[in-house]
Amino acid sequence: MSAASTDSESSAACHPRLVLTNPLRPALLAAARSQRAERSITRMPVTRRIVDRFVAGDTRAAALTSVRELLRHNRFVSIDYLGEDTLDPAQAERVVQEYLRLIADLAELPVGDVEPNSARPLEVSVKLSALGQALPGDGHAVALCNAHVIADAAASAGIWMTVDAEDHTTTDSTLSIVRALRRDHPQTVGTVLQAYLRRTEEDCRAFADEGARIRLCKGAYSEPESAAFRRKREVDASYLRCLRILMRGKGYPMVATHDPAMIEAAALLATAAPRGREDFEFQMLYGIRPAEQERLIGLGQHLRVYVPFGDEWYGYFVRRLAERPANLMFFLRSAAPE
Ligand SMILES: Cc1cc2nc3c(=O)[nH]c(=O)nc-3n(C[C@H](O)[C@H](O)[C@H](O)COP(=O)(O)OP(=O)(O)OC[C@H]3O[C@@H](n4cnc5c(N)ncnc54)[C@H](O)[C@@H]3O)c2cc1C
Repeated sequence: MSAASTDSESSAACHPRLVLTNPLRPALLAAARSQRAERSITRMPVTRRIVDRFVAGDTRAAALTSVRELLRHNRFVSIDYLGEDTLDPAQAERVVQEYLRLIADLAELPVGDVEPNSARPLEVSVKLSALGQALPGDGHAVALCNAHVIADAAASAGIWMTVDAEDHTTTDSTLSIVRALRRDHPQTVGTVLQAYLRRTEEDCRAFADEGARIRLCKGAYSEPESAAFRRKREVDASYLRCLRILMRGKGYPMVATHDPAMIEAAALLATAAPRGREDFEFQMLYGIRPAEQERLIGLGQHLRVYVPFGDEWYGYFVRRLAERPANLMFFLRSAAPE
C-alpha cells in the first residue's frame, strides 16, 4: 500500500482549524482538460514519481497487486480503470473489455464468505464518459448499453458497480442511466452524488427513498456558480445536509471524504439514525490519509479504498493536485531545479 500523504496528514493535525483554499484550483481544473497542458506535464521526468502516490500502476496486474495488499489490511476496494471523455466508439469498447477482464480477475480473489445482503468487499467504479457518453448523437444510448454489459458481469461475479459522477452537464444522463441499470441490478449498481451541486440534496432524497447505494463526495470538477456551491463553507454545509438524508434513508451511504469534520459528523449521524457500523461505509482515495484509514478500521468501520489504474491518469492526477494545496506544492517543489 502507498505510504503517501502522511506528511500532509500530520500538518493538518497540527493546524486543525487552518483551512487552506487553493487559488490555483480553477486554472488546474482547466488544465485537467487541456491537451497542451497534458503534453507538458506528462513529459516532466518528476511527474511519474508523484503520480505513483495516487495511481496503483499502468496495468491491471499492478492494480491487482495493490488490491490484494489492501484486502490483506482489511480494506474494501473499488477499482477504476482510468480514462474519460472518449469520442471514439472503439476506445469505449476497449474500456468495456478491460472491465470484463478486471471483473473476471477480481472474481478469483479470496474474499471469504460474504452474506447475500451485506457489503461487497470488491467494487468497480465506472465513468460513463469513458464508455461513450460524450459521443455526438447517440452517446447516452452507447454508454447505457456499455454500462449494462459491465453491470451484468459484475452482478454475476457478486461484485458491486458504482457509477462515478463527472461534470454537471452529464448529471441528468448519468442518473437516468443509473436508474435504468438499477431496474435490472438494484443490489449491484450504485452511484456517486456530488455535494457541491445545488441539485444534490433533492437527488439524495430520491435515491435514499429508493434504497440505493450512494457514494457522497464533495465534487472535483470546475462548475459554474449557477450549478454548484463554490465556497468551502457552503459545500461542507451541503455535504452535511445530504449526509443526514442518506443516513436516515433506506439505502447504503458511502461517505467518500478525507475531511476530519465530515468523518466525525458521519459517525454521529449514523448513531443518531440509528445505523450500525455494517450499514454504511467510509471511502478514501488510494494513497491518501492511510493513518486515518487504519484508525477507522480499528474502530470496526467499513473502509473502502478507491484504486485507480491505467495509463490515462492525467485528468485524475491533476484533479488531485487541484483539491489540495499541499499536493500541488509537493509537485512544484519536486519539479523545481535544485
Ligand atoms: C472514494 C472517492 C471517490 C470519489 N469519486 C468522485 C466522483 O465520482 N466524482 C467527483 O467529482 N469526485 C469524486 N471524488 C473526489 C471528491 O469529490 C473530492 O474532490 C475529494 O475527495 C476531496 O474532498 P474531501 O472531501 O476529501 O475534502 P477537502 O475539502 O478536499 O479537504 C478537507 C480536509 O480534509 C483533509 N484532507 C484532505 N485531503 C487530505 C490529504 N491528502 N492528506 C491529509 N488530509 C487531507 C484536510 O484536513 C482538509 O482540510 C471522490 C473521492 C473519494 C474519496
